Amino acid sequence: MTIDSTNSTATDTIKRPSVEEAENAVRTLIKWAGDDPDREGLVGTPDRVVRSYLEFFAGYNEDPVALLQRTFEETDGYDEMVLLKDIRLESHCEHHMVPIIGKAHIAYLPSKRVVGISKLARVLEMYAKRLQIQEKLTAQVANTLFEVLEPRGVAVVIEAAHQCMTTRGIHKAGVTMVTSRMLAASRDKTEMRREFLAMIKNG
Ligand SMILES: [Zn+2]
Repeated sequence: MTIDSTNSTATDTIKRPSVEEAENAVRTLIKWAGDDPDREGLVGTPDRVVRSYLEFFAGYNEDPVALLQRTFEETDGYDEMVLLKDIRLESHCEHHMVPIIGKAHIAYLPSKRVVGISKLARVLEMYAKRLQIQEKLTAQVANTLFEVLEPRGVAVVIEAAHQCMTTRGIHKAGVTMVTSRMLAASRDKTEMRREFLAMIKNG
């Protein structure tokens, strides 16, 4: 497995438009919605939308592999599961560019080293703040942790609601999508899955 394929952001080959070009694109979408971008309430909107995009899609400027380089080896032999539960997830669906909102649970079984616990949430965030599908996001987080930390195992579960499904299209509110990816040597896998699911459920 290589993380190059899932890690690439394509930003190397994409030239960003100017702020003015981006704001003009928002004006076009306002007109497409049927409103007047020059009326008082909307006049500042292109600027606000363009600045919001810098937040929503900040992940394109960040490198999860670099983030995970700082690890700790003095663990007194700790080799049990480390789990970060109920991490708030905010992403955007790449098919409709509307929010995906949910939560993630990320666990790993350390072997050589551990990483600061907040880094697990940051790795999720770096991939979430890109245009995404939930399946790919789940795989990217798991693959990156597995490659970089070299743990005995990694498990990632994401539960999320997709606004492209709840506020448009088939309008199914209250539906969540669950995806998971578990990576471990086959001898550890069954035990790890059992422990991970038990830890998510408890509390
Ligand atoms: Zn969608």
